[in-house]
Amino acid sequence: MEKNICIYTNNTHTSLNTERILKKKLDNTGFNILPGYCDKADLLVCIGGDGTFLEAIHKYDFPQMPIIGINTGHLGFFQEIMPAQLDDLIFNYSHEQYTLQPLSTVKIDVKSEGRVYEHTGLNEVIIRGMDSYSVHLNMSIGGSFIERFSGDGLLVATPAGSTAYNYSLGGSIVDPRINLLQVTPMAPMNTTAYRAFTSSILLPSELSLGIIPDMEQDASICVVYDGYSKEYPTVEEMTVGFSDTKINLMRFKNYDFWTKVKSKFL
Ligand code: NAP
Ligand code: MN
Repeated sequence: MEKNICIYTNNTHTSLNTERILKKKLDNTGFNILPGYCDKADLLVCIGGDGTFLEAIHKYDFPQMPIIGINTGHLGFFQEIMPAQLDDLIFNYSHEQYTLQPLSTVKIDVKSEGRVYEHTGLNEVIIRGMDSYSVHLNMSIGGSFIERFSGDGLLVATPAGSTAYNYSLGGSIVDPRINLLQVTPMAPMNTTAYRAFTSSILLPSELSLGIIPDMEQDASICVVYDGYSKEYPTVEEMTVGFSDTKINLMRFKNYDFWTKVKSKFL
């Protein structure tokens, strides 16, 4: 059966050149390249770095078909192959020599002025103040009040996002085969005026984090999901939890999460 392939490319010279070569090779092998995005396609190819990958995921609302990334960007943690490996991609895909790596996502519900707004992140969601103000957040886990957090904000990372912003904040790297969420404090304040936890907290997938901004201070909040931000002037409450939405990355024979960590970080 003929396979339909969509390609998403950023506009760097290397990416566009890679796209041109890939299209020619796919065409010669008998694949059908779709002119635009289609959610019924058999494969989505993303050419760029992690930023481009995240852009495609959001633009197409978490595509359900297998996704393969070609790294022309900087780090390329999501990306499986380099532009020099296009023949390997075509060979492995044609011969079904690949596995799919499911990646879970994190979801936030924001209740603001009586309405509920939902955002999903593949890497993380961040709850922070507007205009660089600190935030004071009443936190509960699984419905039990834990503490009033004061600081820059709270970052809730998925295992896939644990190597991104979370890692820069001192959070742990998590193997994506584990279903959990990591709550990492951003510049927690610890003074005689304020108290906040200083290490990351790991939550099982069935528990959610409840947050009520401290109204006496300020209830304006900025929610950032994978780098996209949305400002809410008044927030009544927020719930952050494990999401049922997953994406599936195509990985080839030699893929190993920890080898990738080593090659990108150590
Ligand atoms: P960006 O500011 O260009 O990205 C920052 C870096 O994070 C880039 O090198 C990017 O890789 C890398 N990255 C993205 N997802 C990753 C992952 N899952 N594991 C390891 N590294 C990852 O913005 P962007 O490219 O649009 O990416 C958005 C992400 O940037 C956010 O989700 C957040 O996690 C991260 N970020 C990090 C910091 C920080 O570490 N201080 C600050 C802001 C945002 P590429 O070079 O391949 O694009
Ligand atoms: Mn980037």
